[in-house]
Amino acid sequence: MTSHSPITSEVDLDAEGRHAGYLRLPHSVHRSAYGFIPIPIVSIRNGDGPRVVLMAGNHGDEYEGQIALAMLASTLEAADVRGQVIILPAANTPAVRAGTRTSPIDGGNLNRSFPGDPSGPPTSVIAHYLESVIFEGIDYLLDLHSGGTSLLYLPTALVRVEDDEHANAVRRALVAALGIPYALTFRSVDGPYATSAAARRGGIAITVELGGGAQVDRLHLHLIEAGLRRYLRHVGACPHIDTKPAASAPRFLQVDDDAQYVYARSAGVFEPVADLGDTVDAGQLAARIHRPEQPWLPAEPVCFEHRGFIVCRRALARTEIGDCLFQIAHD
Ligand SMILES: [Zn+2]
Repeated sequence: MTSHSPITSEVDLDAEGRHAGYLRLPHSVHRSAYGFIPIPIVSIRNGDGPRVVLMAGNHGDEYEGQIALAMLASTLEAADVRGQVIILPAANTPAVRAGTRTSPIDGGNLNRSFPGDPSGPPTSVIAHYLESVIFEGIDYLLDLHSGGTSLLYLPTALVRVEDDEHANAVRRALVAALGIPYALTFRSVDGPYATSAAARRGGIAITVELGGGAQVDRLHLHLIEAGLRRYLRHVGACPHIDTKPAASAPRFLQVDDDAQYVYARSAGVFEPVADLGDTVDAGQLAARIHRPEQPWLPAEPVCFEHRGFIVCRRALARTEIGDCLFQIAHD
């Protein structure tokens, strides 16, 4: 399926050394008849070792990973690397340029588009190229996200668990190396996500969520900058790179039940009554939805249905029926 992609790479991924340029996705539009969408890529290759793909800008409005990977891409040298490190700080470039979750060109959500389609819209073409070319021979994928515009996250790694205890131990050690304080484990799903795509190609994939609210969280940025270096050292891609020790061991939590998402059941203004990091009980008040357009109506209470620990909450106040207000997990 590789040869059918319209994307061409300015960077020879098989070449030794440090190479930077664009993946060119042809895009003929009113203002640019023979143009291309420039997806930045840096490949740093040096002899034998693991193939590691570091990715951000999968969603365009999630910034800490974009910054951390841009800084890494500008400083990592071939002499630091064993094997290959491929850095994609702006994976869905149109969404990154617009600062939006989805692409303004086709409405595509890259992280719901795998395995993609080489003759589909641009987001689907990107997904197809990542899965069929970039993830070929992959050993590790780190996909950096945040809560984006609509959500706020505690710094949390999302880690798949399976029946193979050895594989689970490998992933737990990766999360510990990253030094992300929380880790949500979930049963393996073969889905439309970048991590599922990497897993289909034999890679060990972890997603990291950092902050959100369409902002850059300085502490989360420092956390992932230091974490990336420990991660690269841990997987053997940068065995001699300088690192600082992780501040704490991760707390492993589970999400395995749809009821752990709390949804708005009326439209209005979301007033959170609990916050990130709180432990809550079933039946406890989670939020009030106020209706200033109909002030004669009482605010609508929303309660938690399960005991748990809040890892994520809605950032935006205006809320529609069906918006996710909280995500809770349990130990
Ligand atoms: Zn995301």
